Amino acid sequence: MSNEIRIFCPATIANVSCGFDVLGLALDAVGDEMVIRKTKEKGIKITKLEGQNLPMETLNNVAGVAGLALLAESDYQGGFEIEIYKKIKAGSGIGSSAASSTGAVWAMNELLGKPFSSLELVQFAMEGERLASGVAHADNVAPAIYGGFTLVRSYAPLDIIKIHTPSELYATVIHPQIEVKTADSRKILKTSIELKDGIKQWGNVGGLIAGLYTEDYDLIGRSLEDHIVEPIRSILIPGFDKLKSESLKAGALGCSISGSGPSVFTLSRGEKTALKVADSMRKVYNNFGIDFDIHVSKINLEGIKQL
Ligand code: ADP
Repeated sequence: MSNEIRIFCPATIANVSCGFDVLGLALDAVGDEMVIRKTKEKGIKITKLEGQNLPMETLNNVAGVAGLALLAESDYQGGFEIEIYKKIKAGSGIGSSAASSTGAVWAMNELLGKPFSSLELVQFAMEGERLASGVAHADNVAPAIYGGFTLVRSYAPLDIIKIHTPSELYATVIHPQIEVKTADSRKILKTSIELKDGIKQWGNVGGLIAGLYTEDYDLIGRSLEDHIVEPIRSILIPGFDKLKSESLKAGALGCSISGSGPSVFTLSRGEKTALKVADSMRKVYNNFGIDFDIHVSKINLEGIKQL
C-alpha cells in the first residue's frame, strides 16, 4: 500500500434551487488538488497551502479538523501530512471548505485500506463544515464524496442518496468578486414558511428528482424553481434577476444561487448551450462592470479521484 496519494477534490453546488440544505452536485472543471502522506508522528500537519490565504494550523483548517475526526475513530497509530493546492476561492459558494474537508478524509481512508464507508467519510467531513460555517452541513460534502447529484434525505439519522445524473447535463457557474458571508446570508432567512410555499417547493424537489432519473430535461427545467430562499438571498447578489433572465433566454434549463452565494449557477442540456449561457452571463456582468470568474463544467459523476 502506498504511503502518499495525490487527489482532485471537486467544487460543488449546494441547494440546487429548490433543494435548500438537502440537494447538491459535484463539478468536473473546477476543484482543488491535495497530497496526503502517512507519517510516523501522530496527528495531522498541514505542511503546504498554496493558492489562497487560509489558516494552516490543524484546528483552524477544515482539512485538519475533518482528518482528526477520522483519526479519533481509527486504530491507526501514525499520522498524516497534508498539502493543499487551492483553486476554489474561499467564500465563493461552490464548496471551497467542503473540497478540503472531504479531500482529507477520502485520501486518508484510501491510505488506510478503506476501513470507512462513504457515509462515515461524510460524517467526518461535516466536522470541517462545522468549523467553516458553524453548522455541520452535508449538502456540499456529500456530492464531493459520492459524485453526481446527492440528496440528504435525513440528517438524524444521516441518510444520503446518490441520484442518477443525466449524461448531457452541464453547469455554468459565475462568481462575482464580492464577499457574501455564509453567516449573513443565513441570518436574513426566515425561520418559518407558509404552507402554500412548502407545497410548491416539495412539488419541485419531487419533479427535479423524477426529471433526473427519467432524463427529462424539460421537467428538470420546470422544477428548478425556489419559492423560499432565492427571493430573499438574491437581494445580496448584484444583477441576479438579469443573470437569470438572460441565461434562460440563452437556453438554460434553470438558474439559481449556488450554496449561500455569491456564485450563481445554471444547468443546461449539452456543452454548446452551457457555453452560450456563459456568454450571456459574461455580458450581463461586463455591462454592470462587475469582476467575475466563470466556469462551464460537466457534472462530475465520480466525485473525488486519485490523480
Ligand atoms: P464556500 O462557500 O466556498 O464553501 P465557506 O464560506 O463555506 O466557503 O468556507 C470558507 C471558510 O472556511 C473561510 O472562513 C475559511 O477561512 C475557512 N477554511 C478553513 N480551512 C479551509 C480550507 N482548507 N479551504 C477553504 N476554506 C477553509
